[in-house]
Amino acid sequence: MPETRELLIIGSGPSGLTAAVYAARANLHPLMVEGIGAGGQLMLTTDVENFPGFPDGILGPELMMKFREQAERFGTEFVTADVDRVDFDGPPFRAWVGEREIVAESVIVSTGATARMLGLPSEQRLLGHGVSTCATCDGFFFREQPIAVIGGGDSALEEALFLTKFATSVTVVHRRDELRGSKIMQERAFANPKISFRWNSAVEEMLGDTKVEALRLRDTVTGDVSDLTVSGAFVAIGHTPNTSLFVNQLDLDENGYVLTGPSSTSRRATGPTCW
Ligand code: NAP
Repeated sequence: MPETRELLIIGSGPSGLTAAVYAARANLHPLMVEGIGAGGQLMLTTDVENFPGFPDGILGPELMMKFREQAERFGTEFVTADVDRVDFDGPPFRAWVGEREIVAESVIVSTGATARMLGLPSEQRLLGHGVSTCATCDGFFFREQPIAVIGGGDSALEEALFLTKFATSVTVVHRRDELRGSKIMQERAFANPKISFRWNSAVEEMLGDTKVEALRLRDTVTGDVSDLTVSGAFVAIGHTPNTSLFVNQLDLDENGYVLTGPSSTSRRATGPTCW
């Protein structure tokens, strides 16, 4: 038998859990399907120093535990699993977690995005120990140190420009000899004396036992291998929105992000959609 709910929240990052706190306090009795990787991208971060209310900083996973506790305190119920399938041809809207069918009057989609990674074992091992995907979160930890940013799009250039506030130098490591980022961002990056470029360079390995000490780069044209000494490596090769579940159910743009607004079918889902 399907279970009926007033509100279903899919995804348990900061946006989903914030929605849960407000919805629970409004007596909407939200059910949150938090996913196997509950907590979102902050679960991959070490110190969070810019979240208001924590003057001494807080670890990302600890912060997410507090978010969850707060939502639970007001009556949010949690399912620690992924939604397998949805049917948004409603209201009511339907979602399935395995054999369990949930029928909801409203759904908040807050499944977020996943930072694309290079896929190196050393990158995984050093994530949070010099490897980061968020300059605004982690740049401050690299004051007066050399940093690399990997990527050639606007994200990489934006991260590089931001990081010049802290770093002694920022090296943009790009696999081609031409940037993908917009002209204006390119001009800003080229004009910044702290930013230099390593063209035609692929990161082969991130070196360091407990923290990043260097990047091993392979020249994509000559095949030459060299090491670049850095304390931090910011991977900025794009994000993938976690929206494959909603294909043919919500309006998505060409990159898979949920379209919102009056002309979009996603207006059928309430509240914030995808960050
Ligand atoms: P993007 O435009 O897709 O660029 C990704 C970059 O990463 C590309 O240079 C790509 O190289 C490189 N890359 C991808 N996979 C790689 C891999 N496995 N190894 C090495 N390099 C890899 O993504 P984005 O920079 O995140 O930007 C996404 C969208 O948001 C864009 O439309 C962008 O304009 C926009 N955005 C705008 C701003 C702004 O205006 N301030 C800021 C951020 C983002 P190739 O070039 O060789 O493909």
